[in-house]
Amino acid sequence: MADFYIKSRLSMETFKPLSSSVVQKEFNMYIENLYRRNRRFAEEVKRLIHKYVDRLVKIHGRDYKVKFMNFCGTHEWTTVHYGIRSLLPENIELVAGPGCPVCVTPSFLIEHAIKLSFEDVRVYTFGDAFKLPTVKPVKGVRNLAEAKASGGNVAVVYSFLDALKDLYSYAKESIFLAIGFETTAPGYAIPLINHLIPKNMYFLSALRLTPPAAEYAIMEAKKRSMPSIDGIIAPGHVSAITGAKPWDELSRKLGMPAVISGFEPLDILLSILELLKMVLKGEVGVKIEYRRVVSWNGNVESLNAINIVFEVVDSPWRGIGFIDKSGLEIKNAYSNYDSFKIFSLNKPTRVSWHDDSFSGCKCTEVVLGLAKPTDCRFFLKGCNPSKPLGPCMVSSEGTCSIWARFGGYLNLKKLGD
Ligand code: SF4
Repeated sequence: MADFYIKSRLSMETFKPLSSSVVQKEFNMYIENLYRRNRRFAEEVKRLIHKYVDRLVKIHGRDYKVKFMNFCGTHEWTTVHYGIRSLLPENIELVAGPGCPVCVTPSFLIEHAIKLSFEDVRVYTFGDAFKLPTVKPVKGVRNLAEAKASGGNVAVVYSFLDALKDLYSYAKESIFLAIGFETTAPGYAIPLINHLIPKNMYFLSALRLTPPAAEYAIMEAKKRSMPSIDGIIAPGHVSAITGAKPWDELSRKLGMPAVISGFEPLDILLSILELLKMVLKGEVGVKIEYRRVVSWNGNVESLNAINIVFEVVDSPWRGIGFIDKSGLEIKNAYSNYDSFKIFSLNKPTRVSWHDDSFSGCKCTEVVLGLAKPTDCRFFLKGCNPSKPLGPCMVSSEGTCSIWARFGGYLNLKKLGD
């Protein structure tokens, strides 16, 4: 099994010298079998997880519980979709974290976008933010979908490049609602540096950084005297850009292990196993399970581009408030592309910030891993993916939406609720 485990960390590099298409095909099948369909391997990892938990129980007693946070919305998707929680011992609790960029985009940014769409500024948005609700209605509408239906100039795009393509034949002013984490920022920064952005497009930056939010969520649990987090399953695609280093620093600062995980069900099981080993040994620092994509230093070219275009600032997160050094704003050198400057849009400050959750919605607690969607009285009773009330029910990465669509609540009995 150790051999299997080592093989699971193979990368394409290993196969590079053998570049025939047959080898390529075999490699693809190998990866496919390993990460999706290899039941024997999954069962072995599950057995080891139970074994390590038994050891921890022997040391700490029968009531021992260990709690891990899977930071990323896509990890929560895999966890729920493949029923990972049902494979774990009752002593492990796996909670979802703040890793859904749409869920944490403050209401005021959507309010600005709606207002501009009614002033005939074209608003380009990804589909997952189309129904993101505002707290206050703007001209009687509460999201970009309603704005479009009421005559607002809103265009849904699959990618940033689609928006650029559209602008070949559109000469009026436009904004791009740039929602995302470290993963998406280079996609804006590199074209900006290379003068590929038309002069009539401006960014409305809702870009946020992940390690400060993970730290905030973990510290918040402590502040509220909730059971503390014992380890972090760190986001794989973010780490492809940032590298493992920021998670290593965070892990050491918080005194808990972190494992950067891929997105297949076996990636998550292997990451849980690795975290348990580290808990047992009292190890801190980061380990990379997602070696086929993530390196220690990350994508240096992308990181340089982010540094050239964006400034790291204290930023507001929906329902949470300001988190230190957690957002990216366009630097002065690129202010011709900054919607805030071009349209003189207001930004809240720490003093003027008002909580932007709506009454009764528990998205703040859900995003911070302090509550489950089922703790909210609206979950599937008035709030569902077709008619979302709160931000966590909108995006495919939102915990409420994932639980509603794939039945995350079905494992609750097993988790002792
Ligand atoms: S179920 Fe709806 S209202 Fe409740 S926390 Fe989730 S998004 Fe908010």
